[in-house]
Amino acid sequence: MKAHDGIYLDGAWRPAAGQDVIEVLDPVDEQVIGRVPAGGADDVDAAVRAARAALPGWAATPPAERAARLSALRDVLAARKDEIAETVTAELGSPLAFSQAVHAAVPIAVAGSYAELAATHSFEERIGNSTVLHEPVGVVGAITPWNYPLHQIVAKVAPALAAGCTVVLKPAEDTPLTAQLFAEAVHEAGVPAGVFNLVTGLGPVAGQALAEHPGVDLVSFTGSTAVGKRIAATAGAAVKKVALELGGKSANVILPSADLARAVNVGVANVMSNSGQTCSAWTRMLVHRDRYEEAVGLAAAAAAKYGDRIGPVVNARQRDRVRGYIEQGVAEGATLVAGGPEAPREQGYFVSPTVFSDVTPDMTIAQEEIFGPVLSVLRYEDEDDALRIANGTVYGLAGAVWAGDEAEAVAFARRMDTGQVDINGGRFNPLAPFGGYKQSGVGRELGAHGLTEYLQTKSLQF
Ligand code: NAD
Repeated sequence: MKAHDGIYLDGAWRPAAGQDVIEVLDPVDEQVIGRVPAGGADDVDAAVRAARAALPGWAATPPAERAARLSALRDVLAARKDEIAETVTAELGSPLAFSQAVHAAVPIAVAGSYAELAATHSFEERIGNSTVLHEPVGVVGAITPWNYPLHQIVAKVAPALAAGCTVVLKPAEDTPLTAQLFAEAVHEAGVPAGVFNLVTGLGPVAGQALAEHPGVDLVSFTGSTAVGKRIAATAGAAVKKVALELGGKSANVILPSADLARAVNVGVANVMSNSGQTCSAWTRMLVHRDRYEEAVGLAAAAAAKYGDRIGPVVNARQRDRVRGYIEQGVAEGATLVAGGPEAPREQGYFVSPTVFSDVTPDMTIAQEEIFGPVLSVLRYEDEDDALRIANGTVYGLAGAVWAGDEAEAVAFARRMDTGQVDINGGRFNPLAPFGGYKQSGVGRELGAHGLTEYLQTKSLQF
C-alpha cells in the first residue's frame, strides 16, 4: 500500500520532527502494509500554526468559492473511489464490496452535501434591528476513529471547511493510510495551503497534544466515551468548544405487530455489518415475550449464515476485548445461540458472529459497548417495559423501532432517549443530524446541523 513518510503540513508533505513510526497492519493476515510517521507535540504545534496562519484568508473566502473547493474534493474522491475502497479494506479488513458501498460511497455523498450547503447556507441574517453573523469558530482539531475511517474524517472536515474554519486532523493509528489518501484529495481539489493539515500519530501523544493546544478553538472528537470524557475535561478547563461523538448501545425494539422475520434479519445484518464496529449498531434486540423464542431462532440462523464473511475486527486488542465480553456474557448466565469466543480462523483478527439469548438488562453485555459482532436478545413484557429497557443505559446514540403500523412505531420512537431512530428499517440520509443523547455525545454531525457546530454567532444592532 502507498504510504507517505511525512505529515501533510501547510500544503505539502514534510518530514515529521521525530523518527517514530506507526506500522499499519492488514487485519486479515496480520502483515505490515505500510509505515507512517508517529507525529509528536512539535508536529502538532507546526500544524496548528499553519492552520492559524491560513484562517483569516479562508474565513474571508466567499462561501461560493469554499463550495467550489468542496465540490472539487467530492469529485476527486469520486474519481478515486476504487482506491479508497481498496485502502480501507487493506487497513480495516472489511470486505471490498462493503468498502465500496459504504466506506467510499457514504463520504463522497457527505462531501457533496457540504458543497451544496456551503453554497446555500445563510451565513448572515437580519433579525429585527440586528444583523446576525454566523462566523467560523476558528482552528479545528479533529480526532477520528478507525471504524469508518473516511466517513469520520469527511463528517468533520467538510463542514469545517464549509464554515470557513481551518483544520488539523489526527486520524486513528490503525487507519492512517485512508487519511493520507484524503489529504492527497484535499490537495488535488485546490484547497489552499494550511487550510487542512494532517498529523498521523498516537492518541495519547499527538491526539492529546492537539486537544490541549491553545491554538485550537474547537476539538471535534469521535471515539470512545472514556477518551471523550478526558477531552471534554481538558477543553472545559480551557473554555474551548467541543463536539463529541461517542459510544452507543442502541436498542432495536420489535413491537408485537411487526413483521418479525424482517425486523430480526435486518437487525442481525445491522449488528454484523463492519464486524460490529459501528457506534450506532442496534446491539440490543428487544422482543415481546410471546414472540421471543421465535425471534431467537431467526436471529441465530441469520447470524450463522455470516461465518467469516463479515471480515475481521481491526486489531488484536479489539479481538481480545470482544472475546472477553463474550466470555463474560456466558459467565453472567446468558445463553449462546450462535458463535462464541472461539475464532473462526487461526490467522487474522476474526470473531464469530455471536448471538446471546436470555440476556437481562443488568448484564454487562446489555450495558457496555462491545464494538464487535455480538447481538444480545432481550425479552420485554409490555411497551412500558420495552421503553424502560431501551432507555436503560448511559448511552443514547441511535435505535430502531418496528411495528405493523408506521404511526405506532413513530409514537414509540418519540419516547426514546436517543439521537436517531430508524422506523421499520429506515434509510441513510446524509442531511439528517447524527449524534448522541446522554453519554453518547455532545453536538451533531451531518447536514446543516453539522455545519452549525463549526459556526459562532455575532449580532450587530443597528
Ligand atoms: P479511541 O477513543 O481509543 O480513539 C479515537 C481517536 O482518539 C483515535 O484517533 C485515537 O488516537 C485518539 N485518542 C486516543 N487517546 C487519546 C487521548 N488521550 N487524547 C486525544 N486523542 C486520543 O476509540 P477507538 O477505539 O479508536 O474507537 C472506538 C470507539 O469509538 C467506540 O467506543 C465507538 O463507539 C466510538 N465511535 C463513536 C462514533 C460516533 O459517531 N458516535 C463513531 C465511531 C466510533
